[in-house]
Amino acid sequence: MPALDAFLNQSLAALEKAHLTRKLHEDQYVDAINVLRSGRKYISFASNDYLGLSHHPQVVAAGVEALERYGTGGGASRLVTGNHPLYAETEVLLATMKGTEAALIFGCGYLTHIGVIPALVGKGDLIVLDEFSHASIIDAAKLSGAAMMRFHHNDMQDAEKQLVTFRGKYERCLLATETTFSMDGDTAPVGELAALARKYDAWLLTDDAHGMFQNTKYAAIQMGTLSKAAGNYGGYVCGSRALISYLMSKARSFIFSTSLPPATLASIKAALEVIQSDPDLAKRPLKHAELFSQLLGLPPVQSPIVPLIIGENEPTLKAAEKLQADGFLVPAIRPPTVPRGTARLRFSFSAAHQKEDIQRLAECVRKCHA
Ligand SMILES: *Cc1c(COP(=O)(O)O)cnc(C)c1O
Repeated sequence: MPALDAFLNQSLAALEKAHLTRKLHEDQYVDAINVLRSGRKYISFASNDYLGLSHHPQVVAAGVEALERYGTGGGASRLVTGNHPLYAETEVLLATMKGTEAALIFGCGYLTHIGVIPALVGKGDLIVLDEFSHASIIDAAKLSGAAMMRFHHNDMQDAEKQLVTFRGKYERCLLATETTFSMDGDTAPVGELAALARKYDAWLLTDDAHGMFQNTKYAAIQMGTLSKAAGNYGGYVCGSRALISYLMSKARSFIFSTSLPPATLASIKAALEVIQSDPDLAKRPLKHAELFSQLLGLPPVQSPIVPLIIGENEPTLKAAEKLQADGFLVPAIRPPTVPRGTARLRFSFSAAHQKEDIQRLAECVRKCHA
């Protein structure tokens, strides 16, 4: 066995050669879309703050007030002494927006899956999921010990084939998908998946991390994050009262992790109230994505996420660098986040972008892609 650092340096060299090294930048958002990096200001098309709520005056004020009243940390896990009253207030709001009986907030979206999936299925059970499902679903599925079968992306015939082939061999079955796919921006046929879940006696779990808090009503288990459109941090699951009670006693990432800071909860609650009170706000990111795709003649969009698939890693990185030189931050997404050979630029649009920003971006993309 090589010494630790020898092993690490060898591995890092291999990553570097494949253009797969990941590096941190220091980024400081001065508002929802303008970000400072290395002393220069950029317009970001690389944030999931779809509604610009991270800098919304009401959302910030609610956080500041709670920070002064309640201090910085949650103090303990929710089951010990960390269950601030703001949790229940926020969970009632979430359940109302998603049209379910109840909701449960976790540390973040990743921790939500890590808790929920192994609480529901384990050895001897089956998980059937879309092949493009987020890493947090895959990791949770592996942790659960259940057998995992992937179906081709959004292919209902293949999903049914997996269920026909494997369902009978296992006891419980979870059918899982993202509602809006994080790297492709397309949406899942949730109604059809719900019909398959009924037909083959499976429980449907939807990951609505990139949704805008609409009701994904067909799913028994509606998961989502508070780190994206809500502009804060945290994860949640909505469902029946029985589901929520069960998860409180069985989801290990809920039981064994500290509660969110009360100020974060106050800001989340304020953000959800803004979304509820302004129905047009949640429509704006999609309109911005539509404008961008029309300007470039790209296929019709289904969400605020627009991928431009380039293929290989190096040209994708180069394209992102060119856009950065023009003042735009756009991430180059590479394997293993997406399948090999489908490296891409991923544009995400916010309600806070201006029309002129989008027009200028489209021009620069046309230029650098030509
Ligand atoms: C971001 C994301 C998550 C994880 O949520 P966090 O709150 O960031 O941990 C889960 N699923 C999908 C599809 C995501 O894009």
